[in-house]
Formats: sequence, C-alpha cells, structure tokens
Amino acid sequence: MGSQTAQPQTAQPQSEQSRTEQSRTEQSRTERLQTAQSQTEQPDGVLFMPLPIAALSFDGDDTLWDFGSGFEPAIGHAARLLSEALGGPAVTADWLNAVREEVARRMPGAGFGAIRLAAFAECARRRGCDRPALAEDVYRAFVAVRAEHTALYPETVEVLRLLAATLPLALTTNGNIELGALGLDGVFTVVTRAAECGIHKPDPAIYLLTAERLGLPPEQVMHIGDHPVEDVDAARAAGLAAVLLDRTGRTPGALRSLVGLPALLAEGSPAGAVS
Ligand SMILES: [Mg+2]
Repeated sequence: MGSQTAQPQTAQPQSEQSRTEQSRTEQSRTERLQTAQSQTEQPDGVLFMPLPIAALSFDGDDTLWDFGSGFEPAIGHAARLLSEALGGPAVTADWLNAVREEVARRMPGAGFGAIRLAAFAECARRRGCDRPALAEDVYRAFVAVRAEHTALYPETVEVLRLLAATLPLALTTNGNIELGALGLDGVFTVVTRAAECGIHKPDPAIYLLTAERLGLPPEQVMHIGDHPVEDVDAARAAGLAAVLLDRTGRTPGALRSLVGLPALLAEGSPAGAVS
C-alpha cells in the first residue's frame, strides 16, 4: 500500500557476532533515548512536531479500533464458558478482570496474551480446577470472539489508505489483536508489539525501536495515540513527534478523530496539543 521506504525487521540470527551487534544496537538505542530526552523539554500544551515527518506510527486499541467493542463480548463469553465448566457460582467478567490485574502484577514484562491466559488458569484453580486445557480452550475462544467483534472506527481504513499513499505507516502497540481479523493486513510497513519485542509502553524505547525498524531518525516519525502518557509523553521522550487523539473532545487541541490527521500533516500547524 503506497510508497514504502523501510522494511519490517526480520528475526536476528543467533551467532556470537550478531549478539555483539545487537548489544551495540541496544546501547546505541539507550544513548539516543538519553539524547532525545534531553532535547525534548517543552512547555505543556505545545505540539512538538519537528518537520519533515517521514513516517507515521499509530497506537491500535482505542486509536484505530474500538477495543471495548471486541473485549466486552469476549470476556463475557469467557465468563460463560468458565461458569459452565466449573459449575457453582457464576463466573463474572468483573472477577476475571480483577484476577487478571493480580496476575499481571506477578508477571512484569509479560505480554497481554500470556497474562490473560495465566489469569484464566488462576481463576480455574481458585475454583478447584487444575486442568491447563480448560484455560487454553477459554483463551482461544476469548481471542476468537474478540477478533470477530472488534470494530475499526468509521474513518480508520480511509484515512490509513490516504496516508499510506505518501508515508510508510507503523503500528506501535502493547496489544495483541491480529491485524488480519481487522482487515488491516499489509497496511503497516512496521509492526512493533510489546509482547514480541519485550518493551512495553510507556517505555520510550519501544518508539525508538519503531523508528529504527522504519530506518528513520525518531524526529522524523510522528506517533498518534489516545493515551496522554503511553502514547504522547513516551513517544516525545524518545524524540518522536506525537499527537493525542481524544475522541471525547475534552482535551483542547487534540484530534477528535483520525479525519483531521491529513490536514494536520499538510499544515504542520501546532494542533494536537496535550493537556
Ligand atoms: Mg490505545
């Protein structure tokens, strides 16, 4: 789709030489992060958007698609499956989510999928069931229902298609929804997932990795996302430009939908501020 100047990162060979090169790359990334952080001090409410922007990075959940549209039916389905399998008091989505938060605290650095699977297993254990297959079955059903129901925002496909005609696009996400299920296969030149690279937002290093995979300096990449800290502050700390998307309209200067993004890029105007 469109003009694309960079290639997705491929798996690293495991030779001693490659490990040394990887170590150098990580050291370099740390040094660049420190430099970026020292250079991006700015007053609140002012968009930091150095030009020219040569690529765009997008958050996924609640930026390109409505996370709740898939998650709510998926967690409800998981609760029903566990209720049927375990018997006794009904398993509720609220309880599954509460246990998931407990499990997440014991699994720092783990991907969301691994945490959710472990949480289903923990719920089953607390109700006297140690069959690993049950949690695995419930997790597979959860993922399938989520993929079936997750809805893109109305403007997502059209805006991405328009932008991809002139810029390479990246996805930088902590989430794990499959792009194919959303009809977004092939849209992104680079996909950086926290579970795959081991770096989670709001660690700015995940944005440096996206820029590196795009083959661009961070200051030539602009990230767009719905979270003021994970998407905006973290991306700026890595030296990227960043724009807040607030679909509630409560943040002055933020984008209210992706529709305004092409104009913002064309104008290079100081919109898209954060509070
Ligand atoms: Mg988000």
